[in-house]
Amino acid sequence: PQPHPQAGAAVKAADRAHVFHSWSAQELIDPLAVAGAEGSYFWDYEGKRYLDLASGLVYTNIGYQHPKVVAAIQEQAARMTTFAPAFAVEARSEAARLIAERTPGDLDKIFFTNGGADAVEHAVRMARLHTGRPKVLSAYRSYHGGTQQAVNLTGDPRRWASDSGTAGVVHFWAPFLYRSRFYAETEEQECARALEHLETTIAFEGPGSVAAIILETVPGTAGIMLPPAGYLAGVREICDKYGIVFVLDEVMAGFGRTGTWFAADLYDVVPDLMTFAKGVNSGYVPLGGVAISARIAETFAERPYPGGLTYSGHPLACAAAVATINVMEEEGVVAHAARLGAEVVEPALRELAERHPSVGDVRGVGMFWALELVKNRETREPLVPYNATGQAATPMNAFAASAKAHGVWPFVNMNRTHVVPPCNVSEAELKEGLAALDTALSVADEYTE
Ligand code: PLP
Repeated sequence: PQPHPQAGAAVKAADRAHVFHSWSAQELIDPLAVAGAEGSYFWDYEGKRYLDLASGLVYTNIGYQHPKVVAAIQEQAARMTTFAPAFAVEARSEAARLIAERTPGDLDKIFFTNGGADAVEHAVRMARLHTGRPKVLSAYRSYHGGTQQAVNLTGDPRRWASDSGTAGVVHFWAPFLYRSRFYAETEEQECARALEHLETTIAFEGPGSVAAIILETVPGTAGIMLPPAGYLAGVREICDKYGIVFVLDEVMAGFGRTGTWFAADLYDVVPDLMTFAKGVNSGYVPLGGVAISARIAETFAERPYPGGLTYSGHPLACAAAVATINVMEEEGVVAHAARLGAEVVEPALRELAERHPSVGDVRGVGMFWALELVKNRETREPLVPYNATGQAATPMNAFAASAKAHGVWPFVNMNRTHVVPPCNVSEAELKEGLAALDTALSVADEYTE
């Protein structure tokens, strides 16, 4: 990368004057001006290069600027940039076919959206119409998107400001042994007690009033907590017992992230509805959707589905999805993520945990890993308090600053850092990233007691 500091200054100035950023106090942020990106790296206008351990917002599953996907977007733009959703269009048909061939079980119909949040909105709407029931159960420690219903389903502080006006959402605790709500000491206990808690919640809410249970198959932003064996199968059973629609949100976990096409494949579970976005086309053009089971599709066979979007199945986004899925097949990206996760990332992170007192827990699979940083390994007190901002977030900010100074862009959320590089990251790139994390963890160690 060549330095172009003046160009960078102009980009930054216009951003600061006119761009209103997500989730931010506008005057307290300092966005980096980015000049370019390729593969697992991006660079700024000073010519400084960063290894992107965050994959953007965990979506560039095949890295930046994959030439085959860029070419497919260019070809589609030249041929048919856009076309209204009521028509059958080649790129849309082909994307739907490729996705449906990979989704589990009988999830064979695809409703396309612009991203993850609206996929969740539509999944919930389908579940409510299918069952005729109002309530939706979702987990604390979850993220389902930034629109009204999706953020209300979310189980993190981003929901608090938007809680009014969306009736019918009930939160419950999903299993998470490291911070067990159930006084469990083994995964088996955690699983059994979490299922008992869910079923009791349903009993007290009124089984006949619950339309859906929505879960991230593996919760992402909330901390990459792999569900214990048997949990998702147990939720499936509970849903079947009470006629509740089971929605799995695979917006972050899907499309190779877990070293399988979908995280559901790890657990052999088939939901009634599955949401996706992000990795479906590596985020090159906005796209999301809902994969729909035969039973729920049947509800809307003779009765119109009351929902839609101008850009549902946008040809440019769908062409990017077709090319991305084909690239992932041709280049064996999913198996690569599984192999490097098991052979490189896991042993390296466990070794870091042995040497750094700030690392309380290591968990993950594929290219989907979290390090939970703590003040004290015995008490498991988080390195920063829940939802810390400003001064209270200093230890995590210092950790992130060190990683960036060493050329690695980390994913940081509360007291965690996630190792979520592109699924086609190379072994050498991973080792470079892990070395910078090692240095940054030494900074975090200074805040332990
Ligand atoms: N669901 C999950 C599990 C997510 O991780 C996200 C985004 O991070 C969303 C939904 C929302 O997706 P989007 O930001 O595309 O609306």
